[in-house]
Amino acid sequence: MAKHIFITGGVGSSLGKGLTSASIGLLLESRGLKINIQKFDPYINVDPGTMSPFQHGEVYVTDDGAETDLDLGHYERFTNAALTRDSSVTTGQVYGEVIRKERHGDYLGKTVQVVPHITNEIKRRIKKLATKGIDVVISEIGGTVGDIESLPFLEAIRQFALEEGRENVMFIHLTLIPRLRATGEIKTKPTQHSVGKLREIGIQPDILICRTEVRLNKEVRQKISLFCNVPLDCVIEEKDAEYSIYEVPVMLARQDTDALVIKHLGLKADGKNLKEWTKLLNILRKPSRTVEVALVGKYVELYDSYKSVYEALTHAGIASRTKVDVRRIPSDSLNTMKDVRVALKGVKGLVIPGGFGDRGIEGKILAVNYARKRKLPFLGLCLGLQVACIEFARNVCGLKDANSAEFAENTANPVITLMDSQGNVVDKGGTMRLGAYPCRLVKGSKAYEAYMCEETTERHRHRYEFNNAYREVFEKKGIIFTGLSPDGKLVEVIELKGHPWFVATQAHPEFKSKPTRPHPLFRGFIRAALRHG
Ligand code: GLN
Repeated sequence: MAKHIFITGGVGSSLGKGLTSASIGLLLESRGLKINIQKFDPYINVDPGTMSPFQHGEVYVTDDGAETDLDLGHYERFTNAALTRDSSVTTGQVYGEVIRKERHGDYLGKTVQVVPHITNEIKRRIKKLATKGIDVVISEIGGTVGDIESLPFLEAIRQFALEEGRENVMFIHLTLIPRLRATGEIKTKPTQHSVGKLREIGIQPDILICRTEVRLNKEVRQKISLFCNVPLDCVIEEKDAEYSIYEVPVMLARQDTDALVIKHLGLKADGKNLKEWTKLLNILRKPSRTVEVALVGKYVELYDSYKSVYEALTHAGIASRTKVDVRRIPSDSLNTMKDVRVALKGVKGLVIPGGFGDRGIEGKILAVNYARKRKLPFLGLCLGLQVACIEFARNVCGLKDANSAEFAENTANPVITLMDSQGNVVDKGGTMRLGAYPCRLVKGSKAYEAYMCEETTERHRHRYEFNNAYREVFEKKGIIFTGLSPDGKLVEVIELKGHPWFVATQAHPEFKSKPTRPHPLFRGFIRAALRHG
């Protein structure tokens, strides 16, 4: 029978619950245990797919095509858990299912209520992850204790512990210990209140993980322990990482967090093996060199919008012991070639990430033009490929009005066009081409050399594609279609002849990069950036 860990958060949002959950997953795996992990999001949207990146950050996509919270990206980067659409649950999905059952007549004669119907549906989804062979299921409850929206989830996990037995369930609460700048004092009261709130609901945390800017001395930890009713060795400090988020698992390991979990849940585990992880931390701490690349995007003001892209660049750096600095450039700040020259001065590569809508498109086109002409290494991701095609069509093929049908519906030269399968789609949510699709690579191409195989799969999230009517002219003028869907119909990867590294993909390879397994295309891009004079 699988054991369960529930991770809640208090005092404030964005404390790094996702990272902490992923780190605990990694620690348990490092002791030979098999884990599954999921995130509960209390908002009513069915998934974050229809939210603006400014609201929510990046939308992470799983192999099976679920549009999910970006915390799932942390889970995949840190652990080997196989994530699916079951790993991302929202209030919208829970209510949707209960309402569907009510209409179907499954509750005939009953009044349908939050308790027990909504809470039962939440518990069903928790149990669904306890598949055969799984030792521990980690469930992260989004939001902050005290929010109206997260109440049904907290009530459900309280019931769950009662039903499954307290020894099979562990509650971990992540909280913030602020420090007052004026006096330098460390304040435990917000944590006391937050744990108090949890206990009102009937949940006594077993472990408190305290986010803090400074070290917590024993006295502070004793106070937290006493007032929050948590043993002293279960008050764990999680100080701001010094050089990388990948330090977190090691920080927790130093305080024997894994041992506490294993003991509480009565698990049989191996000794800890964090060799691979410590090796990459050493590189991150002391890289041999630095390289700076530019990312031109629509949502650069918010770091979370391109989270997986930034992470994948960091991973690629690890592969060549290099620290990758990213110059983030808002695409709508680039209006002339001069703007581009100034903005990109000195960088060794250019990334154009995914995106939607026409704001800043012309700026991206100018930036690609610069990279193409100056032989600056270029990596295009999804919209990045589409923009590269528009630029090439306009400036090399002489199709001055070339555009994507997304931005100019009636252009005479739609080099990027709506996919056939999208023609009749009316709903916005969950209807794009989503999830993993195979791609055949052309031998001898840069992509092939990077992947070192003929067929790969990558995750997708788009409605538009390269218009095959333009393949011939593109090829004649120097584009090579180096990745195609197995039936040859969809363009997946393009490259530019005679350029040191000009590779763009219709997929989102950033979702599959891990610090321990840097993605081949990102690795190739950073290598090219290091060679760029
Ligand atoms: N907006 C483009 C499309 O829908 C690109 C999507 C993306 O970059 N994820 O095809």
